[in-house]
Amino acid sequence: MQANLDRPIHNSVSSSSKNERELTFLERLYLPEIFKGLIYTLKEMFRPKFTFKYPEEKWDPPAAFRGRPVLVQDNGETRCVACGLCARACPPLAISMQAEEIDDLEKERAPSFFEINMLRCIYCGFCEEVCPEEAIVMSQDYDIVFQSRDDAVYGLDRLLKPKEELKERLDFLKSYKNNQFGSFWDYQEENNRHSVRDRDRDFNPGLSIIDMAEQQTKNDSAAPVKFWKS
Ligand code: SF4
Ligand code: SF4
Repeated sequence: MQANLDRPIHNSVSSSSKNERELTFLERLYLPEIFKGLIYTLKEMFRPKFTFKYPEEKWDPPAAFRGRPVLVQDNGETRCVACGLCARACPPLAISMQAEEIDDLEKERAPSFFEINMLRCIYCGFCEEVCPEEAIVMSQDYDIVFQSRDDAVYGLDRLLKPKEELKERLDFLKSYKNNQFGSFWDYQEENNRHSVRDRDRDFNPGLSIIDMAEQQTKNDSAAPVKFWKS
């Protein structure tokens, strides 16, 4: 049978349930219930409080807290080598960056720009998990306010934080990752700032790939030698 939608059988005006009971005289006065509520509020006033008067009182989050992601600044420079792994792992595609080559003894690449759209960020921490340099970490900063959409795009100026300010989180990561990977995780802080050149030479005592590439460049620029006499 097709329902007649113009004449609903039950609605808030006409429907009456057989389980419905009449309110007593006291219930109809509502006063007992109001007094019950007031007594409950009075009791709660003398119980210990767990709330803060934010923003006058700030919460100090634990090291395990995942606040907004920030870039670690090591001796005034970013640890980031612009490998792009964090941007690749970021589920809402909040990270964008551009790599540039730099003339630095410790590393060859750095981000020329690095942006996180904080309107997209879901604080998942994947960027921190995948970063091979421990260059991006979740900070304890939860106090984030924007005036506009453009304002929500954080650039290097707002993302970089000295590692001293992030010590609590970095220490937490060290213990957390060690527990997670057991003896297989050999993370060392000194590995943070490295150069492919140095790493290559460390692991290859012979002629490394970098050395070979340099030799090739020298060979290419050398003047041709005549072996055959005419
Ligand atoms: S915390 Fe998650 S969503 Fe936010 S930038 Fe990192 S990977 Fe992207
Ligand atoms: S923050 Fe880490 S993962 Fe992201 S580009 Fe820099 S080095 Fe790579």
